[in-house]
Amino acid sequence: MNKIILKSIQTSGKRVEINYKVEGKIRKFFREETFWMEFQENMEDVPEGILIIPFLGDVLPLVWVTDSKLVIDKIDKTFYESIQNIKKGYENMYPEMKFLGELEVKNVVDYSYEPQKKSCQFFSGGIDSTATLISRMEEKPDLITMWGADISIDNIKGWSVFQKFIKSCGERHDLKNIFIKSNYRKIYSTHKLNKIYEEVAKANWWLGFQHGLALICIGVVYAYKHKIETIYIPASWDYLTPNDKRCSSSPSIDEAVKFCGRGNVIHEGVKYSREDKVDLIVDYAKKTKEKLKLRVCWEGDEGNNCNYCHKCLKAIVTFILAGADPNDYGFNIEKKDLKERIVNSKIVPTPGWEILKNKYNLDKKKWENDPDMKWLGTLDIEGQRERNLKRRKNFFIKMYRKIEKKFKNYM
Ligand SMILES: [Zn+2]
Repeated sequence: MNKIILKSIQTSGKRVEINYKVEGKIRKFFREETFWMEFQENMEDVPEGILIIPFLGDVLPLVWVTDSKLVIDKIDKTFYESIQNIKKGYENMYPEMKFLGELEVKNVVDYSYEPQKKSCQFFSGGIDSTATLISRMEEKPDLITMWGADISIDNIKGWSVFQKFIKSCGERHDLKNIFIKSNYRKIYSTHKLNKIYEEVAKANWWLGFQHGLALICIGVVYAYKHKIETIYIPASWDYLTPNDKRCSSSPSIDEAVKFCGRGNVIHEGVKYSREDKVDLIVDYAKKTKEKLKLRVCWEGDEGNNCNYCHKCLKAIVTFILAGADPNDYGFNIEKKDLKERIVNSKIVPTPGWEILKNKYNLDKKKWENDPDMKWLGTLDIEGQRERNLKRRKNFFIKMYRKIEKKFKNYM
C-alpha cells in the first residue's frame, strides 16, 4: 500500500524539519524526505500538532488522489475536523476524480487560543495583494511573503531584490514583514505528477492541487505563534471566474481551512474583478497621495516589472483605463509604445482582454482624443490569440526538429 509515515519533527531555533518515509508506488513522486521551513524567529515553543499542518497541506491532495495512507502523531483538533471540508472543495473542483486515502492520527489535541491580533495576509506586491491590503489596512495585517514559491529557494539574487521591494511596501504602511523560506514546492518530482494529472485532471499539479492549500497551511503556523484570528489570501478568483476553473487556491478550498478554535482563512476580494481592484488601488493612491509600487511579473532583471510580458501589459492598460499613469505604479512605459508591444507583438491575449476592450468602448468619447489608445477599441483578441498560439507552436516544432536532428548526428 502507498504510505507516507512521519518519522520526526525537529525544531532548532528558527528552522523546522519534518522527516518522513514514503512507501509504495507513490515513492516515484517524491524528491525529498524532509520538508523544512525557516522562520525569522525561534519556533521551538510551537507544538508538533501545529508544525505538522504545513506538511499536511502539501501532501494531503496527493494522499487523496493516490488512495494512500498518511500516518502522523499529533494534530490540532480544529484543523483535523476541517479536513473533510477541504477535501470536499477538491471533490467539487474535480468531479471526475476520486479523493480517497486515509489519515491516521495518534493524538488529536485542542490548541485553541483567544486571538490577540486580528489578521495577517499573504503578500507578493501584485494587484491582488495590494487590493487585499487596502481593503484590510485598518487591521494592520502582518505581511507574509514566501521564499520557495514563485522565487525558487536557489535564487538568492532574485530573492534579495524581491525582498527589498516587499520590505519597502511594509515600511510604507508601517506593517510587519514576515519572510518564510521553505522547500515545500520542491518535495515532489512535479514533472512526474504533471505527466499523469495534466491528463486525468486537466491541471498542472502545482497550480491545480498544491500551491494554495500548502501556502495557507504554512501561514497557520505563523498565526498560531502570534495568536492571529484570520489569514487573508488575496483572491485569484472573482465573481467572473468560470465555475470549472481548476486552481487549488479557490474560495471553497481556502475558506474550508480552520485551526485552533477560531482561526480562519478568507479568500479576500472575490467580489472585485481585476479591474475593480485596480480602481480600488488608484482611488486609494489618489486619496492618500501615497506612491504605490506594484510588481506584477517575474521577468524583469532587477526585480522590476519587465513592461513587455502579457501580465505587465494587461496591468498597464488596466491602470490607464482606470484614469491613472502606470508609471506612478511601478511600470515604465510610454503610452505611444503600447500598440507596438501589444498588437504587433507575440503576446497571446487572454479572453480577459474583452473586459478592457469593452471598458474602452463604453467610454469611447473620453478616449476620442487619445491616438495612443485607439487600437484597443478594435483589438482582434481572438484572431491575435489564434495567430500567436500557432506561431508559438510552430516555433516549438522547429526547435524540436532542430534538437532531433542534432541528436541523430550523435547516434
Ligand atoms: Zn512583465
